Amino acid sequence: MALVSEHNIARISFLYAIIIVTLLTFSTGALFIVRKIKNLQQEQEVLEKEFIAEQKAQLKVDVNGLIKHITERNINLETYLEENLKMKVEEASRIAINLHKTLKGKKSDKEIETIIREALRPIRVNEKHGYCFILEPTGKAILYPANPDLEGSNLKFAMLNSEKVVENLITIAIEKGNGLYGYRWYKPNYESDILYPKISYVTHVRELNWIIGSGEYLDELQQLSKQTITEELKDNLTTENPDYFFVYKLHNIQGGKDFATILVNNNRPDLIGKKISDDYRDHDGKQFRKEFMKGIRKKGEAYVVYSYKKPTGGYGRKLSYFKHYPKWDWIVARGIYFDRLETTIADQKAKLQAKVKNDIIILIIFFLGAVTIALIVAYHFSTQLQAIFNRYRREQQENLRKLKDLNTTLEKQNRTDTLTNIYNRSYFNEKLAEEIDIANRYQSKFCIMIFDIDHFKYVNDQYGHLAGDAVLKDFAKLIESNIRRTDTFARWGGEEFIILTPGITPDHALNMADKLRQLIEQHTFTVDRKITASFGISGYIEDEDGEATLQRADEALYRAKDKGRNRCVGPVV
Ligand code: GH3
Ligand code: MG
Ligand code: MG
Repeated sequence: MALVSEHNIARISFLYAIIIVTLLTFSTGALFIVRKIKNLQQEQEVLEKEFIAEQKAQLKVDVNGLIKHITERNINLETYLEENLKMKVEEASRIAINLHKTLKGKKSDKEIETIIREALRPIRVNEKHGYCFILEPTGKAILYPANPDLEGSNLKFAMLNSEKVVENLITIAIEKGNGLYGYRWYKPNYESDILYPKISYVTHVRELNWIIGSGEYLDELQQLSKQTITEELKDNLTTENPDYFFVYKLHNIQGGKDFATILVNNNRPDLIGKKISDDYRDHDGKQFRKEFMKGIRKKGEAYVVYSYKKPTGGYGRKLSYFKHYPKWDWIVARGIYFDRLETTIADQKAKLQAKVKNDIIILIIFFLGAVTIALIVAYHFSTQLQAIFNRYRREQQENLRKLKDLNTTLEKQNRTDTLTNIYNRSYFNEKLAEEIDIANRYQSKFCIMIFDIDHFKYVNDQYGHLAGDAVLKDFAKLIESNIRRTDTFARWGGEEFIILTPGITPDHALNMADKLRQLIEQHTFTVDRKITASFGISGYIEDEDGEATLQRADEALYRAKDKGRNRCVGPVV
């Protein structure tokens, strides 16, 4: 069966329209959405890159800020220390001068020296350290609280390598009146032979010709600085700001076991003060300490992405910036967790999802619109098409009917005599041939009677040709209404007629002919004249030619005419 027929063309065209619209809409829509999603992925990559770049810059700024703060604090502390030293030493000098002035003449020089010495002995620049010392320009120690045993002896020679330091202190005081001097010195009580960086302020008290001074160990100052910074950094981790500073004290720049001590890490208070190893692996198995130490050795700084414990719990990817502060051998670092990036990306994703959802809704609306239009168009189209088909079908049926009618008419015309409206000669011949077939097949009988109106010429001559026609018509009608339906009655030519009577013998046919002859004789025609006819009858003899049967009937008719007309003559044997 063909896919498209006149019955389903409307439905098929509608279906095709819907399929095409669906395919077009969804393929375009899918393309559109896929591109959006691809864009989102690209945007997210860009976002991550931008985030990392931004955070790298910010982390650097933060860490450098902290280092700057440390440096400034150091400088401030040094200045503060220097000022403090100056202040205490000047104060001690004033006390000494005042005591000297007050006691001069009242006490012996020795006694005055003792009083002043003991008065200055407890003075401290800082809480514990920073004692005041008194030297004579020779180098002899009047007051030396760090080691009172050395008082009275020359400090220049009292300690190993002390000569140059004591010499310089005395020179600065005597030549400049006062001044600061940085050097390396023993810790009080000679706890060890190690020399520590120290700064001292000395002033020359002319009244007594003494050099009064005081010093402070810089490492202790640095210690103080470190403590303060460490103290300050204790609050750098809050719930609002989960990104925090952390600080290592570096012991071995080459790394290895115990390469550093954690000084500050508010995320891991358990590790503070603990030595750490560089083969430590992060949550993902990455040796991030080795990685940042490589950078520290190469450039003094490093960025590393790794996975670490989050202050809020669990583990998270983070980006940290590590910077070496060589003055203290610290590594100052600050990290940022990717949570924020992930939140931003999640936000973007949610936004895009909403957008895509929106797009899908628009697509569906568009699709429904397109389907509706397609439906209307398809409906309209199919209705028109159906109408065209229906019209075509009706026309076709009508034409067929006309053709059939025409055919029937033509067929009828072909077998009918136009004047009398009975069968014509050619149809009779066909009928005769058929009857011969039947007779030969079934051994059935049939007869033929040919009859001719007598002296018809006179009718024409007397009443005119039209009247003759009327008689012929009337004659045919009369015969037709008095024979059987199975008989074939035809006009044989002119005023000559013929009847084929199936199923009867020639005797029977003769009887029948005579009845017709009488009917004619008794019938009143339109002309004022008696109309008679003569009949010749023949019976079909099996297997003979139709012409032979006709010939015999004709001969019989000839005889009837010859015998005086208005009579019937049977088969001539
Ligand atoms: P017979 O008794 O010997 O048959 O004499 P007849 O005059 O009938 O025979 P004939 O053959 O001499 O004449 C036949 C006439 O029939 C001649 C012709 O004009 C007439 N005729 C033949 N066909 C028609 C027709 O269709 N209409 C009319 N009006 N006359 C016809
Ligand atoms: Mg005649
Ligand atoms: Mg005739």
